[in-house]
Amino acid sequence: MSDSAFLDAAAELLGPRGLTRDPALMAPWLTDWRGRFSGSALAMASPASTEEVAELVKLCARHGVAIVPQGGNSGMSGGATPDTSGTALLLSLRRMNHIHDLDRATRQVVCEAGVVLQTLHEAAEAKGLRFPLTLGGKGSATIGGLIATNAGGTQVLRHGSMRAQVLGLEAVLADGSVVRALTPLKKDNRGFDLKQLLIGSEGTLGIVTAATLRLSPAVAARAVLWAGVPSLEAARALLLFCQDAAGDALEGFEVLPHAALEAVLAYLPSARAPLSSAHGWHVLIELVADRATAETLSARAEGLLGQALEHGLLEDATIAASEGQAEAFWTIRDSIAPAERARGPAVQHDISVAVDRMPAFVGEAVSAVEARWPGTQAVAFGHLGDGNVHFHVIAPAGVDGLSWQTGDGKAISGFVHEMVTQWQGSISAEHGIGQLKRDDLARLGDPVVLAMLRAVKDALDPAGLLNPGKLVPLAPASDNP
Ligand SMILES: Cc1cc2nc3c(=O)[nH]c(=O)nc-3n(C[C@H](O)[C@H](O)[C@H](O)COP(=O)(O)OP(=O)(O)OC[C@H]3O[C@@H](n4cnc5c(N)ncnc54)[C@H](O)[C@@H]3O)c2cc1C
Repeated sequence: MSDSAFLDAAAELLGPRGLTRDPALMAPWLTDWRGRFSGSALAMASPASTEEVAELVKLCARHGVAIVPQGGNSGMSGGATPDTSGTALLLSLRRMNHIHDLDRATRQVVCEAGVVLQTLHEAAEAKGLRFPLTLGGKGSATIGGLIATNAGGTQVLRHGSMRAQVLGLEAVLADGSVVRALTPLKKDNRGFDLKQLLIGSEGTLGIVTAATLRLSPAVAARAVLWAGVPSLEAARALLLFCQDAAGDALEGFEVLPHAALEAVLAYLPSARAPLSSAHGWHVLIELVADRATAETLSARAEGLLGQALEHGLLEDATIAASEGQAEAFWTIRDSIAPAERARGPAVQHDISVAVDRMPAFVGEAVSAVEARWPGTQAVAFGHLGDGNVHFHVIAPAGVDGLSWQTGDGKAISGFVHEMVTQWQGSISAEHGIGQLKRDDLARLGDPVVLAMLRAVKDALDPAGLLNPGKLVPLAPASDNP
């Protein structure tokens, strides 16, 4: 059947608000957040309910139309960008943005897929609760996208990634059938945990339409600390100490090298270095307390730093004296990426290795990259407590951005991913595979794991219509009949 028969049927199903082919309305959603991938689409559908999504998917299945699910388009791996053929339907979940049953007693909430993370934060806060997952893209990222990418952020250390927050899920499968599993069951041993299969599947196995999420008590007080240490190994020793001494109060532990702090200070004229002394590495620590322990938090924070200093675990440290100063500390952390972008071209890697091996890995990787590509600067920063750093390599001064990215930049990424694989780590700790890392996953992934990924994909989406070209590598040519 023709495109026009499909489009007429979709328009009838979704009504005027639910389908557009207007190039101006579609344009912002056809290029990814970092501007690395651009595509085109047959149309953009914006269904308003799970039933509409299910009927639309059935229609796509009948017409053989591929579907690219999209939430806030804040993903970092090009997973929500269609290819350039113009044959796929862009399926936006943003109209499905209702929050239901935010329950203080059970500390649970049911969200439709298009709810924006920041909106959920505000709704939970209004009830004296919080959703304990946050990240820089919170004003755009949706619950469906966060689930589809199993997003992390700065609170994973204590609360886990999105996998740990999802208690129930509703999704539409490739044939239009609906998995309704929103009711949370603490114990349920009826075989595979299919909800976990959909989490992190990047729109390749099903379309998430709603989820039941875990909430936590609101934070009544926080203490934000900044410490200077000589090395990443010293930062890890400090992390172990804080985990022992602060226990559950330890919410964040972020590291940055001296060069990253310098870059932010040059980029943000209003920023001030938290410590007057110079250090090889800096650590941002956040401790939190609920109402029962709020009063003692600042004494605990002071005690923690005092003991760490006594044990020689840090060179210098300070505690934010006000909420404004605490925010200023976090602004430094959150400005590393934009400060680096302002300096010129760079390639970014979102990698993990076992936490105890991270200092050695970073040391080796930085030296290897800078020696092999003279003039580059490699900078690792981020979530040390999760064994996850953002490993960014900045181009030599004066190079042409585009040709560097596609030449040396690409070679550097391949090299970094090979190194991570040799260290039994992951080439994607947070941002998913999308189209950005699919080739490297195919090249470096364990063949047994890749075969399992393909088997699951073939079983749930035999026609390959859900987000084609993303995440799941094609079978090697020799396997094709
Ligand atoms: C400034 C900034 C900081 C960030 N920091 C972090 C961070 O610290 N940690 C982290 O993990 N991520 C981070 N991210 C990445 C990003 O926020 C996450 O990947 C987010 O989960 C994407 O949500 P989204 O709604 O924008 O999804 P999109 O970008 O629209 O889509 C992402 C993927 O999910 C699929 N998808 C979207 N919605 C659905 C659905 N309903 N059903 C099925 N599949 C769907 C898409 O097809 C695509 O493959 C950051 C992003 C920005 C812009």
